[in-house]
Amino acid sequence: MVKWTTQLEKEKMILCTKELIQTQCQVCKKEYALFVDKKGLQDWLDGKKYIQDALSDLTAAERELLISGTCDDCWKIIWGEYE
Ligand SMILES: [Zn+2]
Repeated sequence: MVKWTTQLEKEKMILCTKELIQTQCQVCKKEYALFVDKKGLQDWLDGKKYIQDALSDLTAAERELLISGTCDDCWKIIWGEYE
């Protein structure tokens, strides 16, 4: 088996569990694309899990974008810098 085929298989596997979702910041209207775990996203949407547990591989800023539709830049402008 050639190397790139293996790589392709691996990428396919990742694509099966992860979903690329596009979201837009409600404040600056900038578009963001996030790779999220499909099952985790579903669990969060169903209210089975907190977002920080369901989508633990996202950064706090990325989770905030999903929760409130506010990107990191705008969040800082609105609420001031994080600690
Ligand atoms: Zn923004």
